[in-house]
Amino acid sequence: GFKMGIVGLPNVGKSTLFNALTKTAAAQAANFPFCTIEPNVGEVAVPDARLDKLAAIAASKSIIPTRMTFVDIAGLVKGASKGEGLGNQFLANIREVDAIAHVLRCFEDGDVTHVEGRVDPVADAETIETELMLADIESIEKRLQNIVRKVRGGDKEAVQQERLLRAALVALEDGRPARLVDVDDEDRRAWNMLQLLTTKPVLYVCNVGEAEAADGNAHSQAVAEMAAAQGNAHVVISAQIEEEISQLEPDEAQMFLEEMGLSEAGLDRLIRAGYALLHLETYFTVGPKEARAWTIKSGTTAPKAAGVIHGDFEKGFIRAETIAYDDFVALGGEQASKDAGKMRAEGKGYTVKDGDVLHFLFNT
Ligand code: GDP
Repeated sequence: GFKMGIVGLPNVGKSTLFNALTKTAAAQAANFPFCTIEPNVGEVAVPDARLDKLAAIAASKSIIPTRMTFVDIAGLVKGASKGEGLGNQFLANIREVDAIAHVLRCFEDGDVTHVEGRVDPVADAETIETELMLADIESIEKRLQNIVRKVRGGDKEAVQQERLLRAALVALEDGRPARLVDVDDEDRRAWNMLQLLTTKPVLYVCNVGEAEAADGNAHSQAVAEMAAAQGNAHVVISAQIEEEISQLEPDEAQMFLEEMGLSEAGLDRLIRAGYALLHLETYFTVGPKEARAWTIKSGTTAPKAAGVIHGDFEKGFIRAETIAYDDFVALGGEQASKDAGKMRAEGKGYTVKDGDVLHFLFNT
């Protein structure tokens, strides 16, 4: 599955947000830096109204949404890259995630201490990005030392790695994150394998006060401009409101949202933004027993998509029977789609499309 790491300075609302996301008390929210020392991992259902619709049409007994993993990575502070505080462990946790949800404090509250003594989300974002860049520089320098011997021995992979590491180093020493380095298609795989922290896509999460959840405020506006300039994404959320919503029954939550002038829960927007940031798509398997959603990277071929369900589906892949979501809904189900000639047989080269309703045929 795909993993988002929640990072940010202490006391910006990470734990509050994580709690709301996972509806657990596992990550204790407290007005105290370093309160979450172990990374907390939670799985979240990806909200998708299409799945409910498909299930209703097929009268499926159970509905199984696809999931996204969130990891609460607390304790990133100024000096983390030098191993100050609890730094190193956190940097190792960040290496493992696919994308970073960077929570920025955009709320004013004199009762909640800010580590730098002022609310300035753009400066906070720079503080964290600087730590990540310093950590990348340090790890690259170490790796370059270790790789020298392999390069001398003529190891082709090592030669490629060295070239990419040096390109990253040039950018980083120039004060630019590694994600801004132009990488050729043939280098893309090796580049991703370097797992540099500043190549991870970033989603800024502006944590605003309760009254500002609908429209944001001057701080979140400043973050929006920074994100646009960097090519990163942003969402505006009130972690406190989300925490309150997460404790309500669905219909109560809907009323509460309407009262606050919000069309949908911020967490739904956050998950969707994470989906878009990672270029993720959803396909469905639908039958009387269950309707289920599955996550793939955009551009995934049918055998690889089958492999998300089970490795054997990929290995023994014969073909996929495919109905587009719109056809399935408009025609009223699988049989009707088949009768209308809207069920297609697709082979190994087929690129799965977002919303496809799939049925895999495979050799065991
Ligand atoms: P973390 O250290 O980043 O995980 O931050 P926490 O989630 O523990 O929050 C730190 C403190 O800020 C807690 O006392 C929260 O109740 C408070 N807090 C979090 N979000 C908001 C918010 O949107 N508005 C206000 N006023 N306080 C918040």
